[in-house]
Amino acid sequence: MSGIFRKSVLQPGPGSKADDCDAGAAEGSASSAPLAAFMAELAREFPNFRIVPKDESPLSKAIDVALKILTLGGQRHYMTHYHTVIGDTLYVPTGWTHTDDVDCVITLRHERIHLRQRRRYTLPGMAFLYFIPFFPLGLAYGRARIEWEAYTETLRATAELKGMDAAHSPALRRRIVQQFTGPAYGWMWPFRAVVERWFDEALHDLEE
Ligand SMILES: [Zn+2]
Repeated sequence: MSGIFRKSVLQPGPGSKADDCDAGAAEGSASSAPLAAFMAELAREFPNFRIVPKDESPLSKAIDVALKILTLGGQRHYMTHYHTVIGDTLYVPTGWTHTDDVDCVITLRHERIHLRQRRRYTLPGMAFLYFIPFFPLGLAYGRARIEWEAYTETLRATAELKGMDAAHSPALRRRIVQQFTGPAYGWMWPFRAVVERWFDEALHDLEE
C-alpha cells in the first residue's frame, strides 16, 4: 500500500479525516477498508500504478497552462477539480486527501477504465484516439468514446456504492453531460441530446 501513495500523500495533513482518500494513513481503520481493498486490487492489476498530486508535478502545470490557452480559459479547473491518468500515474487535484472514501473509490473506478484502455490500445494508440479523431477541439469523437466508457463506470460505481437514487441524481447527470458538451474536455461532443441519450441508456442498463 505505502508504495502506491507518495509520502506527502501518506501523511495526514492538519484537519484530515480518518475517512478521507488517505487509505495508507488510515490503514486498519474500518472506514478506510473499502478504499484500501480497492487500492490493493488496483495494485495487483497495475503494479506500477502510483498517485501524484498535480501541484507537485511540472508536467501537470504545463498541461494546465496549455489547456487554459486552448480552451480560452474555459478549462480553468484542471489542477483543482480533475483527475488525470497518464501512463500508470494518476495525477490528483488539490483536496484529494480530504475526499470522502466512497467518492475516491468511484473516481478510481473511472480511472481504472482509462488504465485498461491504455493497456488495450497502447499509450500511442490511446494518445491518437484521445487527440485526433475528428478534431482536437470540438467533435473529438475518439476522446468522447474513451470518456464515455469511463463515465459509464462512474455511474455504475455510484449505483453500487451509493444506491440507484444517487445514480439518478439530476446534479450527477448535469455534471457528466457538461463534461462532454462544455470546455472541460475541449467540447468533445457538444450535442447535449446525444449525450443525454447515452446517459439514459447507461442508467437503463444499470437497472437491468
Ligand atoms: Zn476520464
